[in-house]
Amino acid sequence: MDNKFPGKDISDEDLKTKFPLAAKKKYDHKSKFTVAGVEFGGDLIPIFAGPNMVESKDLIFDVAKNIKSIGAHFMRGGAFKPLTFPYRNKKYTETREDGIKWLGLAKEKYNIPVITEVMEEKYIEMISEVSDILQIGSRNMQNYPLITACAKTQKPIMIKRHYGSSLRDWLGSAEYALIEGNEKVILCERGVSVPHTHRATSRFLLDLQVVPAAQEVTHLPIVVDPSHATFWRAWIKPMALASIASGADGIMLEVHPDPENSAVDPLQPINYDDFKSLMFQMDKLSKLIMDKKIFT
Ligand code: PEP
Ligand code: MN
Repeated sequence: MDNKFPGKDISDEDLKTKFPLAAKKKYDHKSKFTVAGVEFGGDLIPIFAGPNMVESKDLIFDVAKNIKSIGAHFMRGGAFKPLTFPYRNKKYTETREDGIKWLGLAKEKYNIPVITEVMEEKYIEMISEVSDILQIGSRNMQNYPLITACAKTQKPIMIKRHYGSSLRDWLGSAEYALIEGNEKVILCERGVSVPHTHRATSRFLLDLQVVPAAQEVTHLPIVVDPSHATFWRAWIKPMALASIASGADGIMLEVHPDPENSAVDPLQPINYDDFKSLMFQMDKLSKLIMDKKIFT
């Protein structure tokens, strides 16, 4: 079933001239690298878990403690947030510099590495002191100066796919990071925009077909984020398991101690108990059909 002649979606010419660094050099070429002691591209499927937003110090400490004991490899959470609408009330206010500081303190205390979003060049240095991976959000996938500046730090970078972009455009963004000599580049699928999916229960459509499509042409690890795609916690378990079956190299999940009271997108996070049972299910499935594992 393997396609030994990649390029169904992307031409050989593009692979050679547009993203020579992101493209596989040969059929079984796969990037393997370690971030904060966690290996990407090998037999482990790293799990990123945490709230949408770094709401408070207490929340982040509670999340770090719980997800670490359940077995997550990275803690996620945005302190600088690309919120879709500009109106803020107290609950929705970004915690910005304070949020980054809390992520750093929780990381130290519970020994769990961190991934958080960078939206503006001027904060790269400050965020880099805490974050083990710099996250480029969906909305900034084509902000090439931001990607270039983040890549220059030589910190690992995760580029979330814009919800309206092709695989070709996504790889172009990765190429901007790779050309800076930064080899720790991760891609993240987080749902694409299809007009009829934009209902209360499903804001985006999780494009799992892009996982094997990307694996055909690039050696970079592909993470899948079903939380942002489904926008609906009841669909997280089936879509996380399907992501693993599709060949994902990592999974990002929104996890919150009190999902209904999450400051942002309260329909999408899962609680600790559901996260724990999903971790066991993902581990079982990974071993059974992918020869991979979730627990270290
Ligand atoms: C996030 O992961 O916090 C986020 C804002 O995701 P996206 O950029 O995919 O919307
Ligand atoms: Mn979000």
